[in-house]
Amino acid sequence: MTKISELLRQGTSLSVELWPPRSRDAQERLENVLTELYPLHPTFTSITYGAGGSTRERTHDLVVRIAREGLITPMAHLVCAAHSRSELVDILVRYRDEGINNVLALMGDPPLDSTTPLEQGELVHAVDLVELAKEVGDFCVAVAAHPEGHPLSPDIESDRDYLARKMKVSDFAITQFFFNADHYFRLVDDLAGRGIDKPVLPGIMPITKVRTVYKMAELSGTEVPSDLAERVERVAGNPDDVRKIGVEVAIDLARRLLAGGVPGLHFYTMNESAATIEIVNALSYFH
Ligand SMILES: Cc1cc2nc3c(=O)[nH]c(=O)nc-3n(C[C@H](O)[C@H](O)[C@H](O)COP(=O)(O)OP(=O)(O)OC[C@H]3O[C@@H](n4cnc5c(N)ncnc54)[C@H](O)[C@@H]3O)c2cc1C
Repeated sequence: MTKISELLRQGTSLSVELWPPRSRDAQERLENVLTELYPLHPTFTSITYGAGGSTRERTHDLVVRIAREGLITPMAHLVCAAHSRSELVDILVRYRDEGINNVLALMGDPPLDSTTPLEQGELVHAVDLVELAKEVGDFCVAVAAHPEGHPLSPDIESDRDYLARKMKVSDFAITQFFFNADHYFRLVDDLAGRGIDKPVLPGIMPITKVRTVYKMAELSGTEVPSDLAERVERVAGNPDDVRKIGVEVAIDLARRLLAGGVPGLHFYTMNESAATIEIVNALSYFH
């Protein structure tokens, strides 16, 4: 399978995050989402992993199935949390032997609806998992970047230092979602100042539900600008209006990012295709 690092050298990428379905109904919905997304010709799709291993088989099965279909290159997320080193090796060996060579190495977060903190794994930080993946096979390994700093980081300088260290041993990064393009450009400048010029794909999450966005923003340390918060709160009782604002905001953000020369756009689809399709079509950039 082609490494995503090679695909990124071919031009501005378009990628979509999906999660493995939990039920038969969700599986059917995902089939429709995939069918609707294929015509956008995404460069790759990244498949999330439930920290603690809750989606271990489902992530694996979806990644392998998408790879076999050959319509889009999949990337498997994998997390350190709650896993032993040997469990991680087993997962990586299985991917390697099945020809899956794109992995996103993460520390791991508890699911949105969980109140229990995650058990620490034998490997603590994502950088350890990057190194393990590179030992196990010839993987293209991506990592997460946090434009506004990770909530656990005591300050932005140490956040950027650890990120630069992680990027030195990996191939590219995908950012947490954000609403202000300046945060992204500052991150890229900070990395350049630390000698890192590998691709950093900005993550875009169209707002479709007010509560989910606040919860995710709190967990990831993302600022929801006050003017945006006021706009969505004014229409919070009307899901169609919330979604419309979410799409408008994402189009503006994507335009600013493309104008600034980003290497690609990565969409957090939340397993829904409509908003991503609407945004990509409005950009008239990828066809
Ligand atoms: C694109 C993307 C996809 C994601 N997909 C998933 C998913 O599928 N499943 C999931 O559970 N979560 C996922 N997450 C969430 C991610 O697991 C969390 O953001 C997590 O809290 C941090 O992950 P990380 O890989 O950036 O961690 P790390 O790189 O380990 O960083 C975490 C914190 O530790 C600090 N740090 C890093 N290295 C060191 C070191 N050596 N010593 C001391 N401090 C250090 C960092 O500065 C930061 O504050 C995703 C996030 C992104 C951006």
